[in-house]
Amino acid sequence: MSTVRDGLPVSEGISFGRIRVLRWGVPDVPHETIPASQVDEHVASFHAAREWARDRLTEIQDVTRERLGNLEARIFEPQLLMLDDVEVVDGTVRYIRENHLTAARAFHWRMLELQSLWVRTANPMVLDRLNDLEDVLSRVLRRLLGLPEPGDMSGDGEPAILVAQNLTPSLTVQMNPQSILGIATDQGTRTSHWAILARSMEIPAVAGLVDISRIAQEGQEGILDGRIGRLILNPDERDRRIYREREVRIRAWEEELSEIARLDAVTLDGQPVALRANLDIPVEAERAATHGAEGVGLFRTEFLVVGRNAMPQEEEQYEAYRQVAEAFPNRAVVIRTFDLGGDKFPMFLHMPAEENPFLGWRAIRVCLDRLELFRPQLRGILRATAHGDIRILLPLVNDVEEVVRVRELLSEEEDRLRRDGIPFHSGYKLGILVETPAAALDAAELARHCDFFSIGTNDLVQYTLAVDRTNARLSHLYNPFHPSVVRQIHQVSRVARAAGIEVSVCGEMAANPLGAFLLLGLDIMALSVAWPSLPEVKKVIRAFRIEDARVAARKALAAPTSGDVTRCLVDGLGDAVDLSAFSGRWSLSVP
Ligand code: PEP
Ligand code: MG
Repeated sequence: MSTVRDGLPVSEGISFGRIRVLRWGVPDVPHETIPASQVDEHVASFHAAREWARDRLTEIQDVTRERLGNLEARIFEPQLLMLDDVEVVDGTVRYIRENHLTAARAFHWRMLELQSLWVRTANPMVLDRLNDLEDVLSRVLRRLLGLPEPGDMSGDGEPAILVAQNLTPSLTVQMNPQSILGIATDQGTRTSHWAILARSMEIPAVAGLVDISRIAQEGQEGILDGRIGRLILNPDERDRRIYREREVRIRAWEEELSEIARLDAVTLDGQPVALRANLDIPVEAERAATHGAEGVGLFRTEFLVVGRNAMPQEEEQYEAYRQVAEAFPNRAVVIRTFDLGGDKFPMFLHMPAEENPFLGWRAIRVCLDRLELFRPQLRGILRATAHGDIRILLPLVNDVEEVVRVRELLSEEEDRLRRDGIPFHSGYKLGILVETPAAALDAAELARHCDFFSIGTNDLVQYTLAVDRTNARLSHLYNPFHPSVVRQIHQVSRVARAAGIEVSVCGEMAANPLGAFLLLGLDIMALSVAWPSLPEVKKVIRAFRIEDARVAARKALAAPTSGDVTRCLVDGLGDAVDLSAFSGRWSLSVP
């Protein structure tokens, strides 16, 4: 019988193959003490192992830079810093000198102490750091104990789906995408460094599968679906058929894709739609462009801070923003300022744990409190305005005062740039993400201070329904077609039109065929979706008439329940779109 496990989709794509279980973990270290006469020797071998690890990591970093680019190469910086961290180095040397521990034991102890300190902060962001710590720990220990480096990732053997408890950036970057067909792990999230690398390397991956490394067996057959976050072990004939068909569809689809990318996003009756891409990292810009994006509707910038030991510099930010702007000449590029907090906390903010992080010190609140973080970002974005149609998007805004304050800061930073003779284009736009009921209900007031609105339905749904978007147990309650959400979207759209400013939607809802149909029916003519979804959404848009969408949206607005809303949309769409073709991809059930 097949075993089906669902986790977090972290890198697109479907793969079929045999399972290879990778056990790399931290090696066991015997508890040994040494005579005083050997202390100096162990201190010296600890420093030598550090040196060696630094050289090895630098080598891996260089290979990464060559293969994937600068951003990916920077992923190894926290590890390099850890090797020189005084807390690590002095603590280890002290244990050798004062407690007469072997170099391996002393280093192991010191790292475990730091690990337990970080674990206690109970902060999800720390998970990525712990992952880096394990990578460093394992590398140095293996050197001190004379063990080989973990697992051969070049994969000369039969191509396989790799299953592991967790991965590290250094293991991932050494993988050969020809032979590692997919990755499935117990732990990890979309922002884990190894997951970012897997996306850049186009290896399908699913994380957060809890105990898959214990359940999966070497050589077993598997199907991994990185689009919906599923791993099937021992697939039966039915699973195989479904996925074979899906693969055939995907192949046919890939052929169609390049054709669709060249077509306009326009409804059957000629209504043009601005279909843009959501990006998590700059390298995705090129893929978004080849997938037919008409600009970037949401460029998330947290990649610049997640897992970093220090705040990102203005120069690095400018380069990243400019790279995306240059990929889209004469098109809108909407850059969102740091959306930190919630589930993303960089170490350097020294954030105390909060009871309710999603209702806490998050997004614009953090930026306005920490201007040493915010000002360099605003300057980096302002400088990028010289290279394209840059728009600034502020997350989690509730109050007019927040927008007013950002305008003041921008004007101060513009003055500084002028004084320093640094070019920028002052005609950029400033807008907000409408992602709380407060912003939706107060849209008329906010519209007087904004150049555009973008509705962030991912958060708007969570805050409206009081349903944590990350809680799998509540996923059946997380419904963007709830009448309260539909009415808020309608209200924001109406207000924006009356104020003469653009309104778009950049939440996942826009990538759902029923969602796109509803949003266009509510007169929202700009949608932004994850870049892999662009062709599918474009195909949907081209299949219906805007007039039918408007009629269905009017009915949906009067519908009493989420089920009724969905039914109005399914009926309105009729057979214009084959919804079954999207099965599995779309988490929202069609009644
Ligand atoms: C949203 O909230 O809808 C959104 C697009 O932002 P994020 O998913 O990054 O919170
Ligand atoms: Mg959001």
